[in-house]
Amino acid sequence: MATTEHVQVVVVGGSSAGITVIKALLAANHKNLQITLVERRDARHHMLGSFRALVDEQYADKIWLPYTNLFPKDSPHKIIQGKLTEVHFNHIVLASGETIAFNYLAICTGSSNPAPAKFNMDSSAEAMAITNRARVDLKKSKSIVVVGGGACGVELAGEIKTAFPDKKVTLIHASPKLVDYLGLSDGFKTATLAHLKGLGVDVVLDERVVIEGLDRNNAIQVAPRTISTKAGPIESDMQFYSVGIQVDTSYISTLKPADSVSFDPQSLVNKGTNTLKVRKTMQLVDFDHIFAVGDCSDFSKVPTGAAISFAGPSAGKNILALINAEEKHKPAKLANGSVSPNMMVLATGPTTGVFSVSWLGSGVSNFFSRLIKSKDLMLGLVKGEMNIK
Ligand SMILES: Cc1cc2nc3c(=O)[nH]c(=O)nc-3n(C[C@H](O)[C@H](O)[C@H](O)COP(=O)(O)OP(=O)(O)OC[C@H]3O[C@@H](n4cnc5c(N)ncnc54)[C@H](O)[C@@H]3O)c2cc1C
Repeated sequence: MATTEHVQVVVVGGSSAGITVIKALLAANHKNLQITLVERRDARHHMLGSFRALVDEQYADKIWLPYTNLFPKDSPHKIIQGKLTEVHFNHIVLASGETIAFNYLAICTGSSNPAPAKFNMDSSAEAMAITNRARVDLKKSKSIVVVGGGACGVELAGEIKTAFPDKKVTLIHASPKLVDYLGLSDGFKTATLAHLKGLGVDVVLDERVVIEGLDRNNAIQVAPRTISTKAGPIESDMQFYSVGIQVDTSYISTLKPADSVSFDPQSLVNKGTNTLKVRKTMQLVDFDHIFAVGDCSDFSKVPTGAAISFAGPSAGKNILALINAEEKHKPAKLANGSVSPNMMVLATGPTTGVFSVSWLGSGVSNFFSRLIKSKDLMLGLVKGEMNIK
């Protein structure tokens, strides 16, 4: 236990999961709580808007949100910009060497995708410069190839074609179905294909391509490339690599129970995905006072913001339940994390999209997509979370 007056709750990662947990903690208005948000970046990246930002300069100015208003003024809560490198039983260590003690820890470090969906750097200005440069290049290009037909690739290809209908846009995907995720109906996958084709995007399925110079680390390339496919050669002058989500939880390799030297921290990590293993309460297996929420955990089958909007508040409430139980010297009653219904809305422009929401069915509905997501890509909602007008 930390020795300070307040109960110390440290949340690492200030995106969907971290902010949702913090909101649940703040809602309880607990007088004896100090929340510390540790975030490596200087602003929150509203990644749902990444591809709109690529094609719309004015929108791009809005998707990096400062943390300034997150906590009420004069509250004991604080924000530390830094990168988590080590987790120990009751403290964490940052890349700077700084040590932060905690009573409860929520790990919300998320995942990474190739740019321009997400960015490796900590500076929002550097990330914005990548998007802005790509937009200039995009305007000059004539034929664009997007590699990868998951949710990101579909939205990226759709946003480009909608903004620049005269350019040739081709989406190349390795498997026979687009957005081939667990829990999504074949109807949705077929509707997504039809929707993209309707916009004028050329879709090549079941084709694994390697494009010289293009990979995860160089995910936006301006270069003349002829790509051989079963459907024939595709000429392009700009390519995007939109394949694969990655999770880095290497900081967990220092964590051991207080009384065990033989514990293997690798038992906390799923091989292959690197996600942290959590119980239904979102506590890290073997650790009651440490939670993992969002894309960095294995709580949800498909990592989405929608899943976090259900699970995140449960994690916050369980942390509060533990704090309250300890104060009253009673055992805590924890609830299982809420599981979201299967839902996915893919925005392909400000007024277009395709949706799959279990209570509405699935298919192309520009009306529903616009209503739920496409118009501003939920920017208003996220600004509200950050107390930004
Ligand atoms: C382009 C795009 C569009 C999407 N659209 C949708 C959608 O429409 N609907 C939907 O439900 N989902 C959508 N998703 C998925 C959704 O955005 C993610 O599931 C969600 O953002 C994950 O939130 P998270 O907080 O777990 O992780 P992240 O959003 O990845 O955030 C992790 C945070 O932790 C910080 N961090 C990471 N490592 C460290 C460290 N070591 N130390 C300190 N800080 C660290 C990062 O800087 C970041 O701020 C989309 C994703 C992308 C990329």
